[in-house]
Amino acid sequence: MANEDQLSLFDLAGGDAPKPQPEVDRVSDSLEEDRHLIPTSAKIPIPPGTYGSINELAEHCRQCHRCGLGATRTNAVVGRGNRKASVVIVGEGPGQHEDERGLPFVGRSGELLEKILASVKLSTEEDVYICNTVNCRPPDNRTPTPDEIAACKPYLLEQIRLIDPKIILMTGATAVKAITGDKRGITKIRGTWMQWEGRWCMPIFHPAYLLRNPSKEPGKPKWLMWQDIQTVRQKLDELKLTNG
Ligand code: SF4
Repeated sequence: MANEDQLSLFDLAGGDAPKPQPEVDRVSDSLEEDRHLIPTSAKIPIPPGTYGSINELAEHCRQCHRCGLGATRTNAVVGRGNRKASVVIVGEGPGQHEDERGLPFVGRSGELLEKILASVKLSTEEDVYICNTVNCRPPDNRTPTPDEIAACKPYLLEQIRLIDPKIILMTGATAVKAITGDKRGITKIRGTWMQWEGRWCMPIFHPAYLLRNPSKEPGKPKWLMWQDIQTVRQKLDELKLTNG
């Protein structure tokens, strides 16, 4: 999409009429100008500290066309959950249900994730914040491309900065690669703690993978996931981050 076309997203009134403004808090004039520029191209950086709240960021994502996924989405899907959570869970990208509802992890994968969290007394609404590497649905649920992930990464980093979790759970290899750059397969690194930006990070299986591999036998993915979530629970207790 041409730069001019994308800028016209903000010129909804036309003529001399006052332009409608995004419903966001004003921080500074220069930041206000940046807000009008950010969605137009992935070449325009979004520096850390650009957004004062998740609401501001979400408002921007709804108008974003930094990558081609903006052209085919129904809704941009920004994170949900407790915005002061100690745990952030990062998925890959929105699927059909998420795209339709504008919320992450609300389909079958989301239901399974809720059960996994509930098994260690964690709730998606109270104890975690859930988001994705890309905020718009890749067509046919394909894996987002490196360019799409790079275009959306500032939004992911800003969400992490604003939530400021102690623990990040990365579901699947795409999330691990997007955040840490680690390209190893998920089966090799799941369940292991790594440090990134001063936070405890653990790769875990994506719930969608568990839906395709439903066996609970010891050593199978679902069994391993239950081991991993208990390790997370232990870390939370060790760090005294929840009451459990
Ligand atoms: S996926 Fe991210 S970068 Fe791409 S259009 Fe959607 S919000 Fe913008």
